[in-house]
Amino acid sequence: MFADLPPSLFWPLVIVLGLCLGSFLNVVVTRLPVMLMQGWRAEAREALELEDEQDEESTATFNLITPASQCPACRASIAWHDNVPLLGYLKRRGKCAGCGKHISLQYPLIELAGMALVVAVFAIHGASLESLFLTGACLTLLALAAIDFRTQLLPDIITLPLLWVGLGYQLLFQPLMLTSGVIGAMAGYLSLWGFYWLFKLVTGKEGMGYGDFKLLAALGAWLGWQALPMVLILSAGVGAVVGILIQLAIPRLRGAPMPFGPFLAMAGWIALLAGAPLQAAYLGLVS
Ligand SMILES: [Zn+2]
Repeated sequence: MFADLPPSLFWPLVIVLGLCLGSFLNVVVTRLPVMLMQGWRAEAREALELEDEQDEESTATFNLITPASQCPACRASIAWHDNVPLLGYLKRRGKCAGCGKHISLQYPLIELAGMALVVAVFAIHGASLESLFLTGACLTLLALAAIDFRTQLLPDIITLPLLWVGLGYQLLFQPLMLTSGVIGAMAGYLSLWGFYWLFKLVTGKEGMGYGDFKLLAALGAWLGWQALPMVLILSAGVGAVVGILIQLAIPRLRGAPMPFGPFLAMAGWIALLAGAPLQAAYLGLVS
């Protein structure tokens, strides 16, 4: 039914869908790390047999739905007409209606990125079930990239389902690739795991986190093991360039740890959306 719409209706719908999904991702990106932290703190207190915390902060309901959107600075609720993706931000010129403080650029940027990814998926794969799967994968990578950028975490609660759905995607849409996806998941995890331990034994430092292994495993499941060298070269290459540029521009960040997840996610988008032609070009280059 969606597929039969004329382009003049189809594309505006896809754009609005992308903006709304991006807006939801903003909620996930800002709230999920806080929810995880609360859970870990509660578990730790339980393990240490400490009394439960009884302050207001920890007993107020806090999840993806409650409380309704509020300004991070003054906690004023955001009216629905100021909460419309992108337009709300533009209307208020990036400032809170209550306190006038600047609202993080993260909000419009993630909405725009969500829209761009959804439009790209539908432009390449049309209105199909496969597009829904790929939209899910691309937006999940966006959430992971933003969470890793903000908190240096790649939560299991997102990376592990991404891996399993990736194998399901192979089974449903390209069963001949299933073996390649299984090997991709194994090789993705084990290659970074091996690198981590080698790096740790040689330098005594931790070069990356376990979340990175799981994210590369998930990408291996979605893309097949053949794509992993390209994903690693792209993410490490862009990561190195961006890292050097940031350290040159902001000297105080010299030596600060840099999350690898955003670069893995970016390489994942490129491989998911433009994988086949890139793969052909890459193989042509090395042979
Ligand atoms: Zn405010």
